[in-house]
Amino acid sequence: MKIAVASGKGGTGKTTVSVNLYRTIGKFFDKNIRLVDCDVEEPNDAIFFDNPKLIEKKEVHQLIPKIDTTKCTFCHKCADWCEFNAITIVKNLEFAEVNNDLCHSCGACSVACEFDAITEYPQPLGVISHFDTGIGNGLIEGRLEIGSAMQTSLIKEVKKEVSQNNSTIIFDAPPGTSCPVVETVSDVDYIVLVTEPTPFGLHDLKITVELLKDLKKPFGVIVNKAGLGSDDVYSYLNKQNIEFLSDIPFVKEYAANYASGKIFENIPAEIEGTYMDIAEELMSKNLPS
Ligand code: SF4
Ligand code: SF4
Repeated sequence: MKIAVASGKGGTGKTTVSVNLYRTIGKFFDKNIRLVDCDVEEPNDAIFFDNPKLIEKKEVHQLIPKIDTTKCTFCHKCADWCEFNAITIVKNLEFAEVNNDLCHSCGACSVACEFDAITEYPQPLGVISHFDTGIGNGLIEGRLEIGSAMQTSLIKEVKKEVSQNNSTIIFDAPPGTSCPVVETVSDVDYIVLVTEPTPFGLHDLKITVELLKDLKKPFGVIVNKAGLGSDDVYSYLNKQNIEFLSDIPFVKEYAANYASGKIFENIPAEIEGTYMDIAEELMSKNLPS
């Protein structure tokens, strides 16, 4: 079963929920579990494990096209074929250029060009690391090259690294509702949405719910930091007939553990119990594989 943990905005506790669910399921329900950190701009799942052992690290590249203006006839065919508007051709000025930040390395322009004017060169996309966390099959993390805007491309590469031999996979999705989130959740069986009971939390939750409805993905909601805000989020879930998975109570002393990366130490009984209940609920779901 593939489960993604997502949130409409940062700071809701999505990462805490991801690693805690991974730990709880891995310890008590399914040892054949894998955690995948798809929050490639700011991956930090690894810091919550005691001495995670780096097993493998590899650089990932994407192929970017380059136009040789001595061969180019400025026919514009490559730009017409490019779905991402990454190519600018100005015939009068004999100008031809690829915008690396927009290019998705699909290769269409190279196929389109009939004048052998396009070659491709590798550009760093990021680093993919495998860690032994001491729980289940460990963690795979994608870390985007600084300055790169190609989150989605790296997430695709990260997902290729995940073997089908894991019976449970938890994907920690990037925050928000843009393409990297869609890429992360596109092939999962269920999505755990993490929100908080504040006006900002509710606002972003509504946007994310619309996205998941469009994608026709089953999902349920966890309200983190419960007890801190208003009841509006519960009214919304009720009105929209959205599955409410659980509250996670706000415990001030435990919140301090997050800041020091020690979320597995001195876990209050009510929080440990909450994760057990959520894990049990998720593992009992009869979802298509
Ligand atoms: S298709 Fe080839 S020849 Fe035509 S504009 Fe693009 S690079 Fe130049
Ligand atoms: S590789 Fe694809 S995305 Fe990149 S410039 Fe060529 S057609 Fe556009």
